[in-house]
Amino acid sequence: MAIDMDQLVSLCKRRGFIFQSSEIYGGINSCWDYGPLGVELKNNIKRLWWQAMVNRQDIEGLDASILMHPKVWEASGHVEGFTDSLVDCKKCKHRFRLDQLTEKKCPDCGGELTEPRQFNLMFKTYMGPVESEANIVYLRPETAQGIYVNFLNVQSTMRHKIPFGIAQIGKAFRNEITPGNFVFRTREFEQMEMQYFVKPGEDKKWFEHWKEERIRWHQSIGLNEKKLRFHEHGKNELAHYAKQAFDIEFEFPFGWNEIEGIHNRGDFDLTRHQKFSGKSLEYFDDQSKEKYTPYVIETSVGADRTLLAVILNAYEEEKEGDEVRSVLRFHTSIAPIKVAFFPLMKKPELQALTHQLQDATRSLFRTRYDESGSIGRRYRRQDEIGTPLCVTVDFDSLEDKAVTVRDRDSMKQERVAIDQLNPYLAQKLGIR
Ligand code: ATP
Repeated sequence: MAIDMDQLVSLCKRRGFIFQSSEIYGGINSCWDYGPLGVELKNNIKRLWWQAMVNRQDIEGLDASILMHPKVWEASGHVEGFTDSLVDCKKCKHRFRLDQLTEKKCPDCGGELTEPRQFNLMFKTYMGPVESEANIVYLRPETAQGIYVNFLNVQSTMRHKIPFGIAQIGKAFRNEITPGNFVFRTREFEQMEMQYFVKPGEDKKWFEHWKEERIRWHQSIGLNEKKLRFHEHGKNELAHYAKQAFDIEFEFPFGWNEIEGIHNRGDFDLTRHQKFSGKSLEYFDDQSKEKYTPYVIETSVGADRTLLAVILNAYEEEKEGDEVRSVLRFHTSIAPIKVAFFPLMKKPELQALTHQLQDATRSLFRTRYDESGSIGRRYRRQDEIGTPLCVTVDFDSLEDKAVTVRDRDSMKQERVAIDQLNPYLAQKLGIR
């Protein structure tokens, strides 16, 4: 069942996933706020990425600052090269990215377009009270540079031998000409990036390794493998730093689009930082006694784009008699709420036992309590936000010390002994 983007935006709002930023002021273009369920979902995605990438011997985490020395962006090529060609329609004044146009006329009104102009995508601001050229700083357009400039700090303090990697999650800012498609392209977004430093000559092998690891990760969080594919960059698509690049694409309602980039950046970044800073970033291999500038394999994925893919991938509508049941079939590892607890009726003895069971589970997973409306309606409500399991306490529970657990996907109900409830839920959720 396909869902269009307008439906999705309203569904995300209605269910507390994503709100328009500054909505009471009429909103601000392309800025979004993650609501209570959205922030849980995004945190789960980030946590799973961190577990997959940093919870291993050869990768360390980092949290570098957003504002960096302005020379960083000269060295990285962003001051000179991080530009898009933009054109304006002389008639309707709409603005477009030249590389996204197929015709020489305005796609909105057929009007004549201006000559292309170069537009730098970095946000500029001033450090300190004086707004002068000398005080210009940029909001980082990617997290990667914070990793490169810390390459030797991490390598030497953590005593790593090559190959090893550094991973980071953080905000990045791009003054996109044509933001849109909800959180797919925004001007403020979050990246999850890992830079893997390898010996020149071993880069191709590691590139293949990370390509496979990364597509497997997307599958592990529940993305349908039929909706995922690789796209290799042709020579004219390659960024200024890249020797080889593959995107992992997801099939969005608006077509196949990138969610992650995997790049062989060669020694471009470290060489440029050595040149611009005057500091050596060479690595000394004490076994082979060689000194060299490592090559970098980068994996760069957007947390927001992944979240958008995850919601679209999970959304389903099913006919149930005359009614339509809408469900978010999140993988249990990323579902914002794992278990909902219901007393069958608003009776004190049922409410008390339900609270008691919820309290005993609270430290294990995110839960929710609901006592309003029929049980059927309460199941629907949880289906709509993707909660995998619901626990109902009824009058029999007071006698037989058991509760009913209902599964979101099979809709099957099982009677489970209260003293076995937590291990049962953990096993169903795949949480050890
Ligand atoms: P695009 O071609 O879509 O502009 P890109 O090739 O510039 O993307 P990269 O620089 O490779 O993107 O960034 C890595 C990842 O960061 C992307 O795969 C995407 O998930 C995320 N990302 C980049 N720009 C944005 C944006 N404006 N909004 C949301 N996520 C973004």
